[in-house]
Amino acid sequence: MKYRKLLRVNLTTGAINEEDIPPLTVANFIGGRGFGVNYLYNELKPGTDPLGPENKLIFSIGPLAGTGAPSSSRWIVTAKSPLTGTYFRGCGGADFGAWMRFVELDMIIVEGKTESPVYLYIENGHYEIKNGKNLWGKNTVETEQAIKEIHGPKATSACIGPSGERLIRYATIAVDRGHCAGRGGMGTVMASKNLKAIAINPTGGVKAPSKDFKALIARELAEFQRFIRGEPGSPPFSEKGTTGGVDGTNILGVYPVRNFREGSLDEWKKISSDEYLALKVKSVSCYGCPVHCDREVRVKSGPYAGVSTKGLEYETIWAFTGCIGSNDIGFPVAADLLCDELGIDTISAGVSMGFAYELFEKGIITKKDTDGLELVWGNHEAAFELLKKIANRQGLGDILAEGVKRASAYFGRGSEDYAMHIKGLEMPAFDVRGVKWHGLAMATCPCGAFHNMAFSTQELFGNPWPRSVDRFAEEGYADINKINEDWTAVVDTGIWCNFIGEWQVPSLNLLRELLPAVTGVPQFADEKTIFQVGERITNLERAFNVREGFDRKDDIYPKRFTTELLKKAGPSEGSIIGNFGKMLDEYYAIRGWDQNGIPTIEKLESLGLGQIAKDIIKQRK
Ligand code: SF4
Repeated sequence: MKYRKLLRVNLTTGAINEEDIPPLTVANFIGGRGFGVNYLYNELKPGTDPLGPENKLIFSIGPLAGTGAPSSSRWIVTAKSPLTGTYFRGCGGADFGAWMRFVELDMIIVEGKTESPVYLYIENGHYEIKNGKNLWGKNTVETEQAIKEIHGPKATSACIGPSGERLIRYATIAVDRGHCAGRGGMGTVMASKNLKAIAINPTGGVKAPSKDFKALIARELAEFQRFIRGEPGSPPFSEKGTTGGVDGTNILGVYPVRNFREGSLDEWKKISSDEYLALKVKSVSCYGCPVHCDREVRVKSGPYAGVSTKGLEYETIWAFTGCIGSNDIGFPVAADLLCDELGIDTISAGVSMGFAYELFEKGIITKKDTDGLELVWGNHEAAFELLKKIANRQGLGDILAEGVKRASAYFGRGSEDYAMHIKGLEMPAFDVRGVKWHGLAMATCPCGAFHNMAFSTQELFGNPWPRSVDRFAEEGYADINKINEDWTAVVDTGIWCNFIGEWQVPSLNLLRELLPAVTGVPQFADEKTIFQVGERITNLERAFNVREGFDRKDDIYPKRFTTELLKKAGPSEGSIIGNFGKMLDEYYAIRGWDQNGIPTIEKLESLGLGQIAKDIIKQRK
């Protein structure tokens, strides 16, 4: 097996060095998310300030990136989150991952902080920290364009926008505007280092894969095409992207409305996937992906007529409709464009606004706090103004830019009850009272309320693998959560796109063929070995958080889910979380963790993480 390579960049000292990634690290962690957590755990001291120079920002790709394997060139970014204080992993798309492969880097580890703005410029074997003062203040589109003007049209970049520069706690890192690592403030960490962008300009030519590997890819691609073009139960992502989620969740009654009080939106068909399909201008895709799930859409009429954006996802549509009780089809398009250009997570922004609307309704904040904005349900014009205030940290927006957990601590007066987050990360677009195992996955997720790290296709799409799940049951399915989590961790090492990875059986078959060929590790043909890598990653992420003081007390829902019945929710009407403690007990037992949610010594040792076990013993003394 050949060594893989990382680039270590210290912004404080200006040192830039290449390092080998040892074969044992590849065998244990494959790439992507596995590499990220392995290095973050080993190199970060417990208690590190997420916005201090000691935090590390780690970009990593999987072994399949840039090889021609379908949907495999996404990238992972790992750091300690300024929003949650936990381990965090973001994931982005477009061409950045493939470009990292073309300059032969599997990882870029950024440490320290510069005195003034810079950007990192990378060619094959040439690395430079360059003056970024002229880029500071530009939005993400302007930044990418400026970098192309300086370095040529082939240069791609991952960059932050002005909201990141203002240290909004949920700032994104963007590539090609809409292909963001959106959640958890990875862009905030980048901004705290005064790093505006990482620009990559491959100059060494792309190494042709071996004939055998090319033949293997061609065979797998044919199989894959059959799958994405409409096998029964396969995702219709090529046509509609993720907008089909609007239809599915409203029908199930789990589309959160008015800050998670109701489970479907009034007249939701006005924003259905068919309505968004009618706005489609063209398909857009990440590098080497035949799915083309991404779309450019343009609003045809109403107050946002003529506005267009790329990469409008289900979650974003929800953030700017359900959260504030609006069914205007154009507002999510305009809000998405603003968030992409300024570099803000749409989910955290939408939930923060829904929180403010509820406080306004309850009289906890008034027009004095909102600079005269009428935050009444359905008022998307006011929401647009509030979003700009968040992006620019003005007035109420300055408080909401801290996220709902910190904002509720600021407002007090019972506002904590309406702050919809887990571990400080704002809830995504699923009401957990109607998809209880999907909810458990978010409660126990190492990054907080993250929907994409153990997506329950069993509950949401009726996937029967490995078996069907009763979405209202409160016992008997924790084993499925473990499988979903460990599997997603594997997908994130590949890095195989999550949207495809959610269909486990065809994806697993593909990975078992491709991973041994590309890594030289024959054991990756074995399903058990692959899942063990996933379990190792999941346990190491948990161990990182335990070392930071997180445990069972933090695997907790906002009060609303355990005290209020879900309303206006069709088949989920009246649902509530009854005995969450029992669900947690079942999950911890299946995981081999103790009743406080701490991985046991035996479990860690069985995964080859004995040293981690010693850290935990030391830390808990
Ligand atoms: S399915 Fe969509 S998000 Fe995933 S790699 Fe393809 S275009 Fe990108």
